[in-house]
Amino acid sequence: MNGNGNLRVGLYICHCGTNIAGTIDVKAVAAWGETLPGVVVSREYKYMCSDPGQQLIVDDVREQHLNRIVVASCSPLLHEQTFRGATAKAGLNPFFFHMVNVREHDSWVHEDKQAATEKAKDLIRAAVRRVAFHKPLEKKRVPIHPDVLIVGGGIAGIHAALTLANAGKHVYLVEREPTIGGHMAKFDKTFPTLDCAACILTPKMTAVKKHPNITLWTLSDVTQIEGYVGNFTVTVKRHPRYIIEDLCVGCLECIEACVYKQAKYPDEFNLGLGKRKPIYIPFPQAVPQLPVIDRETCIEFKSGRCKKTCVEVCGDRKAIDFKQQESTETINVGSVILATGFQVFDARRLPYYGYGKFPNVYTSLEAERLINAAGPTQGEVILRDGRKPKTVGILHCIGSRDENTNRWCSRVCCMYSLKLAHLIKEHTGAEIFNFYIDIRTPGKGFEEFYQRLLNEGVHFIRGKGAEINTWPLDPSEEGKLIIRVEDTLIGKIRRIPVDMVVLSVGLEPHADAGDVRRLFNISCSSEGWFLERHPKLAPVNTFTDGIFLAGCCQGPKDIPDSVAQAGAAAAESLALIDSKFVELEPNTAYILEEACSGCKTCIPLCPYSAISFVEAKKKAEINEALCKGCGTCVAACPSGSIRQNLFEDEEIFEEIKGVLAHA
Ligand code: SF4
Ligand code: SF4
Ligand code: SF4
Repeated sequence: MNGNGNLRVGLYICHCGTNIAGTIDVKAVAAWGETLPGVVVSREYKYMCSDPGQQLIVDDVREQHLNRIVVASCSPLLHEQTFRGATAKAGLNPFFFHMVNVREHDSWVHEDKQAATEKAKDLIRAAVRRVAFHKPLEKKRVPIHPDVLIVGGGIAGIHAALTLANAGKHVYLVEREPTIGGHMAKFDKTFPTLDCAACILTPKMTAVKKHPNITLWTLSDVTQIEGYVGNFTVTVKRHPRYIIEDLCVGCLECIEACVYKQAKYPDEFNLGLGKRKPIYIPFPQAVPQLPVIDRETCIEFKSGRCKKTCVEVCGDRKAIDFKQQESTETINVGSVILATGFQVFDARRLPYYGYGKFPNVYTSLEAERLINAAGPTQGEVILRDGRKPKTVGILHCIGSRDENTNRWCSRVCCMYSLKLAHLIKEHTGAEIFNFYIDIRTPGKGFEEFYQRLLNEGVHFIRGKGAEINTWPLDPSEEGKLIIRVEDTLIGKIRRIPVDMVVLSVGLEPHADAGDVRRLFNISCSSEGWFLERHPKLAPVNTFTDGIFLAGCCQGPKDIPDSVAQAGAAAAESLALIDSKFVELEPNTAYILEEACSGCKTCIPLCPYSAISFVEAKKKAEINEALCKGCGTCVAACPSGSIRQNLFEDEEIFEEIKGVLAHA
């Protein structure tokens, strides 16, 4: 069909309540639509997406023998599938439908009603001319691999893995550290209920290890991912632990037997506040319960001349292997959940707070470890100079809500600062001062917790700490850290001397989040957080089908929200897998083989690596399962030999002519 007399178009203009009808004269447009060549029916209706609205299309196709449908309404992102469905239900090929966005492109962006009405007519005229050239297209179905990859073994990754594994799916959980647990494993108690973090986390960690449906790979990175929704091929690099996992029984005698009688090297898990040996386990409840050897500090790796007392004590178990090499695994999965978490703001970036300079200035994560019974001081809050603090200052919003560092609110700092204030007071009886810009306590039980702290006599000073120094004004301030702050409630600059400072550092995307984003071909916000497909309607989906988000890699959140989001990501993944096959949109590009000169211009331009070169034919070829129909190659091909379904030249040219036909 090419716009001749066989064309029988049904045209429908939606009011969208007053969203469209408030600016566009919908009735006038519908009446005008009847005059367009090929239009048999032209109607306006309050909500075209409603069941009665869709039924109008179905009835008209059957009664008026329509062969093309145009709906002028909202964005195709919202309802293109709805109207394609109605078109198909009426017995037409669903691609004999075209949607005109007169809401986002017209009524919402214009105030002049007459001009907006005229613009709607132009857009509709273009659509009616275009739709005449639409060809019938079919969606292709490809089967979905039932396994799932989860990247990141913090609380979000753990929860998603267990949810999917309990539903009978096989999960590969890939974690780059020697243990799963993430940041939550470092916390002492969780706000506002003061549950012991380890008590609620470690049973889940153990369940991961024991679950027959979970393959756990620690010390591992995803290095490559190919394929498309339902059919991803993933390469995982596994770094050596120098312990053979299948042979080690986790007795940890090797750590005791190490030639280093005393732990000597900074312990990463305790943020350098404690010491570890070259062979160590990150923390007592680590999963897997296996030691790891640090080749930077192990004498055998450094000189090859260690007595290897660890090997001796391991004996017949023969679980220590200094020759263990990096290995790679290749797996096929149907979907991926990214749960790669966050990093905390580096307080050294704000030198006026003296972190790294004054020993008794700590970050909040360090304070968590000091309070923790399994931490470097067995839960005693003892300063680096050996004193027990009598006064403590907790500075909120470090690195957050600041034009010079991170503009966003880290969402958890207020509440964890309150929690730390409570716990430090409980452990030491110290006088605690909180320095805040605003107190944000929007969660369940949060405001009540704040009230509890006020009742406990914790001081709150409204003002962002400006500077920390050690300049005493009198002998009572000797050895103290002086916090200078503008108390904005009384409008005065104050000096508060304290023994210990805790900097409540904010959350930010991992330093390598950009690499992960590129690897998985997903988008990120300007701040670097991974971008969800829609903030309200698709908060765990990404723009890459089959790849979902869980936890703080998408943005700062607390533990309950991370777990809730991980459950949602697991459910989305499950729904995808259980649909057994995926339908591929047919708006893909294709190459006219005889016209292709084999210049390869298109190949590196495709953002989805969908184009390859067939040496035997010396021609490019498009994998339609990978093609997302972005059109880049179509525009770039110097010989004009790439076309695209639903965006054929004649369709586009007719659309342009239709827009410009305004008389
Ligand atoms: Fe025990 Fe040997 Fe494993 Fe060390 S490596 S924990 S000694 S089995
Ligand atoms: Fe062929 Fe065009 Fe690709 Fe060149 S750019 S290889 S001519 S399809
Ligand atoms: Fe790749 Fe886009 Fe061309 Fe499809 S239309 S092959 S996704 S460049």
